[in-house]
Amino acid sequence: MGRSAERVDALKLPDEGPILISACLAGVACTHAAEAKTREWALQLVASGRAVAVCPEVAGGLPVPRPEAEITGGDGGDVLDGRAHVVTVDGDDVTENYLRGAATAVAAASRTGAGLAVLKARSPSCGCGAIYDGSFGGVLTEGNGVTAAALSRGGVTVVSDEDVDAD
Ligand code: SF4
Repeated sequence: MGRSAERVDALKLPDEGPILISACLAGVACTHAAEAKTREWALQLVASGRAVAVCPEVAGGLPVPRPEAEITGGDGGDVLDGRAHVVTVDGDDVTENYLRGAATAVAAASRTGAGLAVLKARSPSCGCGAIYDGSFGGVLTEGNGVTAAALSRGGVTVVSDEDVDAD
């Protein structure tokens, strides 16, 4: 297992500067079930022009909707290191899509200068600190998703949307 992000209690978003966010938090219906997970603070970031909204799974070439997927054999850091895989509930290996999506998010952060990413909790891409364990049984384990791990390695501070004190 790789290191997980430390939990941040009631994070106040900074007043200025770009912030990378999971696109589903900004009203985009891009989850595997074709839903949005809209948060008011994310919409405000979009309205102010500060949001850098990315859906790594769509950016990695996956469709909407798509089969549910979980990391098996480790966490996002292990996927980056080739020790773990992302597999759908149907048994298809979608690791390459997740790696491409993570690279897109890292490039977006670099291009815009975003030093903070607020990402959707528990996603195999965006999860920060806790992800599902690969059993598709709803069991959480410690660790980051693939994009969260890649951003963190790139020097971006990653936090879960559930740690933001807003709405
Ligand atoms: S990959 Fe991230 S941005 Fe895309 S739907 Fe999943 S949690 Fe949201």
